[in-house]
Amino acid sequence: MLQNNHRIYLSPPHMGEREKMYINEAFETNWIAPLGPNVDGFENDIISFTGTGGAVALSSGTAAIHLALILLGVEKGDKVFCSSLTFVASANPILYQGAVPVFIDSEPETWNMSPKALERALREAADDGKLPKAVIVVHLYGQSAKMDELISICNYYSVPIVEDSAESLGSTYKGKASGTLGKFGIFSFNGNKIITTSGGGMLISDDLVLLQRARFLATQARDQAAYYQHSQRGYNYRLSNILAGIGRAQMELIEERVFSRRTIYEKYEKGLGTLPGVYFIKELENTRSNRWLTAITINEKETGVHVSQVLRALEEENIEARPVWKPLHLQPLFNESKYYAHGEDVSARLFQSGICLPSGSSLRDEEQLRVINCIYKTLKEPYITEKVAK
Ligand SMILES: *Cc1c(COP(=O)(O)O)cnc(C)c1O
Repeated sequence: MLQNNHRIYLSPPHMGEREKMYINEAFETNWIAPLGPNVDGFENDIISFTGTGGAVALSSGTAAIHLALILLGVEKGDKVFCSSLTFVASANPILYQGAVPVFIDSEPETWNMSPKALERALREAADDGKLPKAVIVVHLYGQSAKMDELISICNYYSVPIVEDSAESLGSTYKGKASGTLGKFGIFSFNGNKIITTSGGGMLISDDLVLLQRARFLATQARDQAAYYQHSQRGYNYRLSNILAGIGRAQMELIEERVFSRRTIYEKYEKGLGTLPGVYFIKELENTRSNRWLTAITINEKETGVHVSQVLRALEEENIEARPVWKPLHLQPLFNESKYYAHGEDVSARLFQSGICLPSGSSLRDEEQLRVINCIYKTLKEPYITEKVAK
């Protein structure tokens, strides 16, 4: 039995009925590791769901970004552009390669990479004679970036895009699956994502030759020989057959999971959207967001309440909520890195005013009501006390 004040989590794993069936199958055939039929099956599930040319199952989304950068020839001293408003995992692989990250601000509509800031950054890089080897575009909280604009700027300078779709599996942009618009796309199956394998990732692309090379690099780069021979640096990045089994069962439910998260978003919007000073991320025309997390901003001037007060009130009610990602250009790790703002520093403002609400696909109606009531009360009380004081 759940207590009335039991903890509500931000985005907990949501298991279905069939995960154990796939795991048992792996046990019964002793196909525990390393690869095996679940890995092939999981890759095929992603291929048919997204319509991509090929897919390689990996141990994490971070590993997928790392391999994408290696395959694009990113080496020591090279520049790589990356969205600033994101989780650190988007940019850490740039450091693994000894390359130099340059951060690009968000635009206010989608919270994702600003075409205006990217254009300026690329023009300056071209003038300096040192274009980046790749641009990592993040689709934050499931919302697609303005891909037409970003692609056309990148094509002009012939710089490939890596789509960090870790948060946007199931989202679409003008009918195309998130992750299939760049040279490479990556997904994450970490515990908090829309589907999970407990830990895992996927690299997708239409370039099957490069994906073959990704498989080679992800299995310690073994040369074709009767003994263990290596002429290149390799990695141990493949997904286990057990975990891929969880992924297969989760993929059977992906559309339901997207539906649940979208419904949760709609309920938040209905419950809180009429409050002055509370703003939601609108869906771009011709796109579908998987609404991985419902994120809102709370304007302090309009509400008289700072977002940190809302976070505190939720914590007091045993509800897990989180500030929006702290932009990477504000992280101590990257304090030497170059940054291109949109105009005003949009990502910094979103960090100052943004909050992610519990959005797990297993969230119950009465739990969501608890969250909505708590926020409503926190935002209304200043007015109420004001009135009483008068
Ligand atoms: C979760 C996440 C990643 C990393 O994925 P892992 O599987 O945890 O390595 C990368 N980028 C973004 C935007 C993420 O949210």
